[in-house]
Amino acid sequence: MIRASDPRSMLRLSQDWRRRGLRVGFVPTMGALHAGHLSLLARARKENGIVVASVFVNPLQFGPKEDFTRYPRPFARDRALCLGAGADALYHPSAKVMYPEGFCTRVSVEGLSGLLCGEFRPGHFQGVATVVLKLLEAVRPDRLYLGEKDFQQLTLLRRMVLDLGLPVKVVGCPTIRERDGLALSSRNAYLSAEERAAAPDIYRALRAGAGAARGRGAGPGSVLKAASRLLSRMPGARVEYLRLVDERGLAQARRLRGRLRLLAAVRLGRTRLIDNVPVICEDRPRNPSDFTK
Ligand code: AMP
Repeated sequence: MIRASDPRSMLRLSQDWRRRGLRVGFVPTMGALHAGHLSLLARARKENGIVVASVFVNPLQFGPKEDFTRYPRPFARDRALCLGAGADALYHPSAKVMYPEGFCTRVSVEGLSGLLCGEFRPGHFQGVATVVLKLLEAVRPDRLYLGEKDFQQLTLLRRMVLDLGLPVKVVGCPTIRERDGLALSSRNAYLSAEERAAAPDIYRALRAGAGAARGRGAGPGSVLKAASRLLSRMPGARVEYLRLVDERGLAQARRLRGRLRLLAAVRLGRTRLIDNVPVICEDRPRNPSDFTK
């Protein structure tokens, strides 16, 4: 596995692969790799001649009071996991290389950056979009692999790729979970034993919400009510948001129609966890009054 630590050497590698007619799949991460990341690498391995992983804890996407300094950085382990997952190259730039002195550009996917997590983490998605655009510039992949676990991030990056006409296909990959349903996350390591025991309730609540969509005469209100009933009983939890939105524009769902997602952000002690599930709707009017709307 080749290591690159600056954009120029990464770009040279990529140009060389391209000349040789190889397809490049790219999995950007912040490290502290787990089975969720590895599932993205496995998918990329299956679909491409070359697989590039990146490990970069991006300072731009952390707020001043967030966990940038304590974010786990087990680099030797991450490198071994990338190698084991069959990555051909690991891109591991430093913050200095990514953001040299004077760096002041931000990419903003207007309309999507300020919603949901963006309401609670101002500037977060500008940081995400900026770093991903910079990573794409260096790696120039054919396919970009992202997890549905971070559904807003996936939607926003799809939009950025579309709006800027970037020559890369975004591949969304399903969320990998612990046996008890908790979505894998590098931040799960922060949880105390009590918090860890409570954490799977987030997924249980979201599933209960999605299940309520199948009830007779159900509407968005029934979905939210079913989910919030469970969330509100979680010991030590503070719900930042629970929303039912349409998958493309993340607008609040007014009816159970089309492709919807139920998303939540919950604080358990000092740890902020996010999760989401699809909500399957029957795509036909549920009652006669719907015909007139
Ligand atoms: P991160 O290192 O948290 O920035 O995540 C890097 C990539 O892995 C992102 O595309 C995430 O959505 C994805 N990812 C994180 N956790 C999971 C998971 N549990 N299942 C699938 N993908 C995940």
